[in-house]
Amino acid sequence: MITPILPTYARFDLSFEKGDGAYLVTASGERYLDFGSGIAVNCLGHAHPHLVECLTDQASRLWHTSNLYNIPGQQKLAQRLTEATFADTVFFTNSGAEAMECSIKMARKYHAANGQPERYTLITFEGAFHGRTLATIAAGGQEKYLEGFGPAVEGFKQVPFGDLEAVREALDETTAGILIEPVQGEGGIRVFEPSFLKALRALCDEHGLLLVLDEVQCGVGRTGKLFAHEWAGITPDIMGIAKAIGGGFPLGACLATEDAACGMVAGSHGSTYGGNPLAMAVGNGVLDIVLGDGFLDNVRAMGLLLSQKLARIKDEHGDVIEEIRGEGLMIGIRPRVPNTDFVAALKDQHMLAVGAGENVVRILPPLISTEKEIDEAVEKIEAVCRTFRADMKQAASAGAAE
Ligand SMILES: *Cc1c(COP(=O)(O)O)cnc(C)c1O
Repeated sequence: MITPILPTYARFDLSFEKGDGAYLVTASGERYLDFGSGIAVNCLGHAHPHLVECLTDQASRLWHTSNLYNIPGQQKLAQRLTEATFADTVFFTNSGAEAMECSIKMARKYHAANGQPERYTLITFEGAFHGRTLATIAAGGQEKYLEGFGPAVEGFKQVPFGDLEAVREALDETTAGILIEPVQGEGGIRVFEPSFLKALRALCDEHGLLLVLDEVQCGVGRTGKLFAHEWAGITPDIMGIAKAIGGGFPLGACLATEDAACGMVAGSHGSTYGGNPLAMAVGNGVLDIVLGDGFLDNVRAMGLLLSQKLARIKDEHGDVIEEIRGEGLMIGIRPRVPNTDFVAALKDQHMLAVGAGENVVRILPPLISTEKEIDEAVEKIEAVCRTFRADMKQAASAGAAE
């Protein structure tokens, strides 16, 4: 019999009653170190006092008015996002997939508005993930998400990861732009080289194409810069963000330059809830902290500390861990055992992490993590390596005895 909740997730038999900074607490009081952050969402951990205040203060005054009226929180958040980035304008959404839908529509509309409606194809990369709507599963191009849902939305052409020659060959008279996550999240914490992003920027400039970034997961401080593309010293034309910008409240946004947004006019796009006062209060609260003095310095410092300590664990446990990769506090561990087993073993140590493609275990600590919490995570990861090593030895000696 089907469960009352549509069974689209293989869930752990685990639930939580409250959160406290980097920890989640079960009803029986067991504490888990949350280094998955609700998949890179809870950037300020759980129940951050400032976010709680922003949300409850707004909740007691006004929840929703619709976009038929001005929403002061939107004006404030859009102003701050445009001041802090390449963008001149912002559309607010409730999720990452919607932010990417808006980005994709905008890229197509740009060329239509410039008299070239035939240019609607976006070049994307193997391993990409852009969401679960019909257009974004087509953009991601992953068979397991497309299968059974009818014809894929047209207008996406996928090339191998990091293959500049393949991008060049894929360009034709229908190309509207290039869509890329500077660091692939679901794909397995795969970091594109700064030189590759620079080359894509140059290619776009040369051919009049739009560079569209998906920073839904790697954005808002995760890599130690406000946005991951800053490491490459480039700017996009359009960028979708979500996850951390809401700190746990559903919020996304599509940011764009004035030129890229030229086709979007009254009636072009909309959302009933997008930019709702509650979401705006929280989004502004997140920026109060993330844009504060020293915040990103701490992300970089903690990221460096964590990756150094993980590199040492990899050296000592090379039989269990094959590779450590990532940027800032967006780190991937590639174990030699199935990543699902590794995540389950971490859970047994009361630490949460998230699986990803290429057998990777994603470590996505809250951006407010302290050295003490990093150390605790490292101890738990090392304990997991020891149990797998012991299992391997046992299996090896059992094999030898046969
Ligand atoms: C999570 C994610 C999305 C989709 O976001 P939703 O809020 O789940 O719709 C899109 N792109 C990337 C890179 C993501 O990590």
